[in-house]
Amino acid sequence: MADFLESINPDDTGGVLRRMIRSKSLNPPGDVRECGGIIAEELRTRGLPAEIVEEKPGVANVVSHLDGKEQGQTLIWNGHFDVVTPGEDWQTDPFGGEYKEGFIYGRGASDMKSGVAAMIIALGALRKSGSPFKGRIVFQAVGDEETGSDAGTRLMIRREIGAGAEFAIVSEPTNLNVAIGNRGLRWLEVSVKGRASHAGRPHVGANAINAAARMIHELERLTFRAHHPLFEIPHPSLSVTMIQAGSKVNIIPERCTFSIDRRMMPGESSESIFREIEEVLQKCSSDGISTELRMTHEGWDPYAVDPSLPWVKKLCAAVEEVTGQFPQIKGKAGCTDASHLYHHAKIPSVCFGPGLEDLAHKANERVALEKVVQAAKVYALSAVRLLS
Ligand SMILES: [Zn+2]
Repeated sequence: MADFLESINPDDTGGVLRRMIRSKSLNPPGDVRECGGIIAEELRTRGLPAEIVEEKPGVANVVSHLDGKEQGQTLIWNGHFDVVTPGEDWQTDPFGGEYKEGFIYGRGASDMKSGVAAMIIALGALRKSGSPFKGRIVFQAVGDEETGSDAGTRLMIRREIGAGAEFAIVSEPTNLNVAIGNRGLRWLEVSVKGRASHAGRPHVGANAINAAARMIHELERLTFRAHHPLFEIPHPSLSVTMIQAGSKVNIIPERCTFSIDRRMMPGESSESIFREIEEVLQKCSSDGISTELRMTHEGWDPYAVDPSLPWVKKLCAAVEEVTGQFPQIKGKAGCTDASHLYHHAKIPSVCFGPGLEDLAHKANERVALEKVVQAAKVYALSAVRLLS
C-alpha cells in the first residue's frame, strides 16, 4: 500500500471532524469564522497554506493548495462547512461530536464536515509523502452553501480560484458512491386575481381560491418529458408548497397566491418550465380571473457529466481499490455546488463523500468514522491517479 494511504488513520481523521462539529457554523445566520479558523489551523499544522477569503462579513472560506512534484493539471476539492440549525429530538449534543459504536454524531457529521475533514487529512497525507503527483490540488472549504453559495463557491468562481481546473470533486454526502450530476431548482409564485363580492351573492364575484384550486390540480397532474436513468429521482418534480388567500369568511376572495418548488432535470431551463406553468394557468383561467406568474428564486441549475469520462472512471477505480466495492454512479436529487462549478466555471464536477444524504438536516445526524477514513484514502489515491 502507498505510504500516504498508511498514514491516514481514524484517530487523526476523527479528531479533525469532531473539532469542526464542536464549532457552531450555523447558516443562517452565517458567522462561520470560528470553524474556518479551525480548518486553517488544521491545514497549517500539516504544513499546508491556508488563506481566509471573506467577502460577506462572517462568511469565511478557507483556500489551500498542494503542488505536485512536477507541473501538470489542476484538480479542485470543494466542500462546505456551514450547517443548518439542529432542530429538536437529538439524543446527543448536536455540537458535541460524540463518538459511539463506530459513529461520530453531530450537526454536519454527514452534510458535510466529514467530507471536508477527509480532504484535510488527504492533503496532509499527500504532502507528508512528498506530493507524488503532477500538477496542483486546489482545496476550497466554503462557508456558504446552505443559503445559496453566493458567498461560498460562487465567490470562489468570481475570484477565479482554481480556474481552468480539469476536474472537481465536491465532498457532499454520497455514502462513498459517485454522483455525476444533480437536479436543479427554481421557486415560482402564482398570483391569482379574481373579483370580491358578498358571499351571499357569490355569482357576482369571481372566486380566486376556486380558480387557484383548479390550477394546482392541473399543475400536479403535469407529466414531464425530461428524464435521466442514472438519477436517484429520474424525473422533474413540481410541488405547491405555500398558499395565502382570503380576508373574511363572508367575502368571496379576490386574491390567492401560491408558491411552487420546481426540481429540474438536465435539459430543462427557466424558460421551458415558465412556459409550461403559464400554459396551465391560461387553460384554467375563467371569466373574471387573471393570473401573474413570477420566478422568485433561480437556484442551482441541473447538470450531468458523462459517466464514461476518464476522470470519473479513475475516481471509481480508486473507490473500488480502497473499499473493495465499485461505487454506484448516480445523479443526486438535491442541489449541490458541483452544478455551480460545472455551469459557471465550466469544470466537469462530481460529488463523492462519506456522509449519508438521508441523514442531512435531520436529528441525530451521524457518520461512520470508517467511511470518513475510506473517503480520505479515496481522495488521496484518486488525486495521484488523476494527476499522473
Ligand atoms: Zn451539503
